[in-house]
Amino acid sequence: MNTTANANLFSRLFDHLDDPARLAIEELDGTRISYADLIARAGQMANVLVSRGVKVGDRVAAQTEKSVPALVLYLATVRAGAVYLPLNTAYTLNELEYFIGDAEPSLVVCDPAKAEGIGKIAAKVGAKVETLGADGKGSLTEAASKASPDFKTAPRENDDLAAILYTSGTTGRSKGAMLSHDNLASNSLSLVGYWRFGKDDILIHALPIYHTHGLFVASNVTLFARASMIFLPKFDPELILKLMARATVLMGVPTFYTRLLQHPGLSKESTKHMRLFVSGSAPLLADTHREWSARTGHAVLERYGMTETNMNTSNPYDGDRVPGAVGFPLPGVSVRVTDPDTGREVAREEIGMIEVKGPNVFKGYWRMPEKTKSEFRDDGFFITGDLGKIDGKGYVHIVGRGKDLVISGGFNVYPKEIESEIDAMPGVVESAVIGVPHADFGEGVTAVVVCNKGAAVTEASVLKALDGRLAKFKMPKRVFIVDDLPRNAMGKVQKNILRDSYAKIYSK
Ligand code: AMP
Repeated sequence: MNTTANANLFSRLFDHLDDPARLAIEELDGTRISYADLIARAGQMANVLVSRGVKVGDRVAAQTEKSVPALVLYLATVRAGAVYLPLNTAYTLNELEYFIGDAEPSLVVCDPAKAEGIGKIAAKVGAKVETLGADGKGSLTEAASKASPDFKTAPRENDDLAAILYTSGTTGRSKGAMLSHDNLASNSLSLVGYWRFGKDDILIHALPIYHTHGLFVASNVTLFARASMIFLPKFDPELILKLMARATVLMGVPTFYTRLLQHPGLSKESTKHMRLFVSGSAPLLADTHREWSARTGHAVLERYGMTETNMNTSNPYDGDRVPGAVGFPLPGVSVRVTDPDTGREVAREEIGMIEVKGPNVFKGYWRMPEKTKSEFRDDGFFITGDLGKIDGKGYVHIVGRGKDLVISGGFNVYPKEIESEIDAMPGVVESAVIGVPHADFGEGVTAVVVCNKGAAVTEASVLKALDGRLAKFKMPKRVFIVDDLPRNAMGKVQKNILRDSYAKIYSK
């Protein structure tokens, strides 16, 4: 890229705007925000940040409900050359104490109702506090409304940090993934091309904005394309179905698609204005993919990414979008599969550790140099922790997190293989296979299964159906039928919770 240009993500997003009056964001109450408005609002807020002592490189932490001002805060932080640190709205004060203590922001923005508790935590690291409520009101927007919209975007280099996102950390401490301006800009630009985003696109934005999917993929891709988004505070299937009549793209987690499929209004007719349905952040069941195609005539485009790497792979726009596969490496991204023990690359079709390298890959974990070092190979590949394979046609498949691998009687058992068998049984909605401590086997393969209402699925019927289809060591020792699987806000099944719940079932 041009080395004299400002590499600040904000500059790359907006410096060469040819039509500032274009619509950028639409809210449910009818408010329409043009690109020029958005830039002006970001300028006002950036001025407030600076007036509160935020300097280039400082962290600005935000635990705010989804709203346009919350998105503006992200843009303003980046514009001021500071580092944006979004925090899941579900985090408790106890959890926030860790994040704020670790990241040492100079400013924390939170809901007015939480200002007192968060104020005490912020004071410990000398951070100031501003408020921003779900309705967009608070001390931050109050001050911004009086500030000047003129702001000179802080000069930044490609590798300077734009954001720190804490990984969900289902095991061990959460780690802050450091993302640079170029990590974010290059990945979004690549997706704009890959997914054919253009000015006429209208995205239904229903994802949270404290996570890479809603914050970077959805927002940055839309803005880079000069498209517009309908900004929804949360996922609402009824509303989304209505909006599909005039929108073109939906980006969702798999739960969006399973929930929309339960709606009788979903049909070829109701989705005929839509151009693209993207899914990611958790595995989309192959059945859901097929059912969606049958009902709507659209093949969901599944992609794979993570907080640390942005997006790595995507099913093709034009070619086959294969159910159960996450597609090809994006342009400029290298993906390889290795033996987790030796680090040597394995053959096609063989399962191993997925490793990734490219401009999308983060700069390391905040203040954890040792941890960072241990997750990168010497040749720069990042060890994702996901197990998977590359098939004969080059499609990447994920079989699960490495830490979810079950080792029973010394044999590796890949949960996905057993889950796929169970999911294909009549009456089964979905399943999760986990390993829990077992005196003889080390870990006992255990299946937790969700069935359709009234389906005659039992532990015995599942075991009977699996018998002869799976090697003995892969057979679940127990099968539990439940109403729901525990999931986090991004639709990921929380296997750690399942492992805890069933921890004692094999103890003697
Ligand atoms: P997060 O950092 O919260 O975005 O989580 C990243 C993890 O989500 C990845 O390492 C994968 O384990 C999982 N993930 C993301 N997209 C997919 C996908 N399309 N299929 C399967 N797993 C996925």
